[in-house]
Amino acid sequence: MMEPRRTRVVDVSRNSSSEDVELEVLIGKEEIRKRVKELAEEISRDYEGCERPLMVGILNGAFIFMADLVREMKIPVEIEFMRVKSYSGSDTTGKVEVLMDVNNIRGRKVVVVEDIIDTGITLSCIVRRIREKGAESVRVCALLDKPSRRVVDVKADYVGFTIPDYFVVGYGLDYNGRYRELPEIYRIRS
Ligand code: 5GP
Ligand code: MG
Repeated sequence: MMEPRRTRVVDVSRNSSSEDVELEVLIGKEEIRKRVKELAEEISRDYEGCERPLMVGILNGAFIFMADLVREMKIPVEIEFMRVKSYSGSDTTGKVEVLMDVNNIRGRKVVVVEDIIDTGITLSCIVRRIREKGAESVRVCALLDKPSRRVVDVKADYVGFTIPDYFVVGYGLDYNGRYRELPEIYRIRS
């Protein structure tokens, strides 16, 4: 379980605004780099000798993770993206609106690449949809996992870091559209 070790308020001197929140480093650059490499190696081993896996990144949050992950892969892969909008609320059956879909996945071995699993609602919908479209197999690689928040029973096959119930930003993850570009993963201090 990752716990924050050092406090660093992100440099907001450029374009700072009253909306800035205080951020604390949870996972540093080097730690992310090492873990992403390990995940890529593990996935590469599992799919070695198979037909090229189709890596499906979930936008927007997974864009940086996906880019780093595929560059560490030891086997050839194909890359697609999906964009979904999840509705938060009490409906635990889960409803997501598909804003950008993935096609031609019949018979493919799919690896869904997701930034973070929280309640699990988004991911369970995505996995169901990919199965319905006739994928031969579906596995999930999530950079971050917050198991304490789970509402729907889904598990990732590959997890980068298990974290407590923090709201995190950076390395692709946003808070109201901000902070995706930060190279480390931060928790928002509340
Ligand atoms: P779930 O459907 O599992 O509850 O939510 C998954 C989605 O919610 C993620 O793909 C992500 O976009 C968003 N999300 C959940 N937790 C966090 C978080 O701590 N930080 C950010 N930036 N997004 C989160
Ligand atoms: Mg997301």
